[in-house]
Amino acid sequence: MNKAFYLILLIGLASCGRERPPVTPGDVSIASVVQSNYKNDYTHEVSVQVNGDNLTINSTGLPDHKTPYWGKGHEMYEEFPGRNHANMNTSMISFNYSMTIPILPNESSFKEETELGPVGMALNGVPIYNDYEGGGLLQENAWGTFDASGGHPGPREDYHYHSEGAYLTVDDANLIGFLRDGFPVYGRKDMDDSYPADLDENGGHTGVTSDFAEGIYHYHVSNEVYSTSGLYVIKSGAYHGTKGTFTQ
Ligand SMILES: [Zn+2]
Ligand SMILES: [Zn+2]
Repeated sequence: MNKAFYLILLIGLASCGRERPPVTPGDVSIASVVQSNYKNDYTHEVSVQVNGDNLTINSTGLPDHKTPYWGKGHEMYEEFPGRNHANMNTSMISFNYSMTIPILPNESSFKEETELGPVGMALNGVPIYNDYEGGGLLQENAWGTFDASGGHPGPREDYHYHSEGAYLTVDDANLIGFLRDGFPVYGRKDMDDSYPADLDENGGHTGVTSDFAEGIYHYHVSNEVYSTSGLYVIKSGAYHGTKGTFTQ
């Protein structure tokens, strides 16, 4: 009787295990690069904590640079670029963001699509979004409200980046942040000043970067102009690895 019970329990556990295979850690640690690159010397705090096999990055989500969204009169106010203009949300508010990512990120056999909302965090603590806005793919009504850094606040006054821009990356090989699967994101170029030619459908490839001499999978800002925006979107498509959490 007892044996039968435990057998059923074991079978049950085994089948649960098959639905969600354990994540096998990769072999390149991102810990020191994350700890040394996430900014912590601004008026808004960005901090990094080690929690077992994960890193948790906390931020307010407010940018450390000029943007019209600070509002006229603010010391970091600047005009919109070109013909851009404010959206309904002309201000930004502060959040208690926490992004938890694996110290040893690894490829996932299931490539989960990125979603609306934060898909990663820039080194200054600002969330990175993909090429979607509420309602679907980015349209002119959205990119027409971007500041010079490819950012704007959403309906919740939550400032975030969608595209390449001043203060972040412009046609270079800068490290700009990490996505929720723990893999880093760089500008359009590799460290040898060339544009990568072997990116996979998720905008990444494995190779050496200025931060990872032994090589690591990393994403690049798209080198194709997005629609008629004249902008280069940071991320589209799926995650390469297993997505961690991003709470607010
Ligand atoms: Zn947006
Ligand atoms: Zn690369």
